[in-house]
Amino acid sequence: GGGIGGLTLAVALANVHDIQVDMYEAAQQFNEIGAGVGMWFRTWKIMKTLGLKEDLTNIAVTPPDERKIFEFRKAGEAVGQSFHDLVVPFGVLFMHRADFQQVLAKRINAECTHFSRRLVNYTYRLSLRGKEIVLHFSDGSQATCDILVGADGIKSATRSVMLSCPGEDKCNAATAGRQNSPHTDSQSEIPKGNVVWSGSVAYRHLISPDELSRRFPGHRALRSPVQYVGKNKNVIVYPVSQGRAINLVAYVYDPGQKGALFSDPWVTPVLAAELLAHFDGWEPELIALLELAKNPSRWAVHTLQPLTSYVAPQVAFLGDAAHAMMPHLGSGGGQAVEDAYVLAALLAHPHATRSTIPQILRSYDAVRVPLSQRIATNSRLIGEAYHFNSSDEAGGDEPPSGVGQASGDRLESLAVMIEEKHKELWDCDACYQSTTATELFEGFLKAAAV
Ligand SMILES: Cc1cc2nc3c(=O)[nH]c(=O)nc-3n(C[C@H](O)[C@H](O)[C@H](O)COP(=O)(O)OP(=O)(O)OC[C@H]3O[C@@H](n4cnc5c(N)ncnc54)[C@H](O)[C@@H]3O)c2cc1C
Repeated sequence: GGGIGGLTLAVALANVHDIQVDMYEAAQQFNEIGAGVGMWFRTWKIMKTLGLKEDLTNIAVTPPDERKIFEFRKAGEAVGQSFHDLVVPFGVLFMHRADFQQVLAKRINAECTHFSRRLVNYTYRLSLRGKEIVLHFSDGSQATCDILVGADGIKSATRSVMLSCPGEDKCNAATAGRQNSPHTDSQSEIPKGNVVWSGSVAYRHLISPDELSRRFPGHRALRSPVQYVGKNKNVIVYPVSQGRAINLVAYVYDPGQKGALFSDPWVTPVLAAELLAHFDGWEPELIALLELAKNPSRWAVHTLQPLTSYVAPQVAFLGDAAHAMMPHLGSGGGQAVEDAYVLAALLAHPHATRSTIPQILRSYDAVRVPLSQRIATNSRLIGEAYHFNSSDEAGGDEPPSGVGQASGDRLESLAVMIEEKHKELWDCDACYQSTTATELFEGFLKAAAV
């Protein structure tokens, strides 16, 4: 898959002379959606290590006050109230997804990218070189490799095959027939009980700052990224494309639908009226933003139930294939980048050979599972807090505006939680994980030699 995760892995391995990378992408071309993405400091550090600092600086926007990342407003009634500024030591980068994808794509060898190749199955076979993996594509074609990395998103076929065959010996039999079903619908491949609808939908749109300025001179969103929160809903706005557009995402959560089957298409264009109806009675400055979203798209937000491992014999998966999470910390893409970076560091190790693949995958798993799962959990928890659904003191109904003690205490608790859950996004040195993984790998090799 050639999303953020797969592309980052290909970039990180591009200069490793003894590894040949082939990227198989189901789509006909690299195809990111027309929306924004935020990059926290920990991801930015990796990007700099990969030599992408200049390219990304050219496409990204930093907030006018570099350290004030978001202004938080309680907005679910006629008069809103700003209650917290998220101020961080190292700032954040906002960019258009397609621009980001292009920066990554231009760093990889075009010959290693194979479009219109949808993986439907993999099997194992013994060759003169040892055990190899046979990839089966929906057009009936095949390819082989020593390691398969499933970077194929939340509907991952790699994960689906892995979960349906408990071990490599049983795998060929358990999945036989998949390769005989060309053009498999990827959605029907989702293992039951694994991917769940969160009960949330996200409405997305890019709005014009010029139009906003004409309609609502001096609007807050022209000065700063903003998060508007209220009961079961929140809206996030930040600049992208070097300030030529404002990315808007409006989340609407229906607690009664959590875990239900989402039977419509996951992504679909909707009428502006559908979005506006959800925010009836919210404060005017928020409504002004929503009114500029003239043809929004609606995304059903699905997540993956926590997995305890991201590897199988000669197989690893990364990014949304491994840990699709709630988007409230803006970290799913960043976690895909970290997976890719750690895996690439292990594969580039001088002792990485076909025979040490098991130790490589074990080290990757040991480092990446706990960290990515922690961020996924925090992402869910902060979303619940934005919606006043936490079980702790930040929860309950949205507190009324005003200066009442109870309301003030509740918002203060929420502000504390916002600080706490975001801290790791700039506080933690993402690069240390590759060192830890490398040390683990060397330890496993030593133990095997004894
Ligand atoms: C509303 C919203 C806002 C978000 N905001 C942020 C943010 O600000 N910051 C952030 O870091 N993250 C954010 N995320 C999360 C982020 O978008 C994802 O975590 C990230 O895009 C995952 O990248 P990926 O490469 O793992 O998967 P994907 O982007 O899904 O890429 C998978 C690729 O694999 C291909 N593919 C699929 N199946 C096959 C197959 N069988 N064979 C071959 N190819 C296949 C697909 O065509 C695709 O190109 C947000 C998510 C949402 C929903």
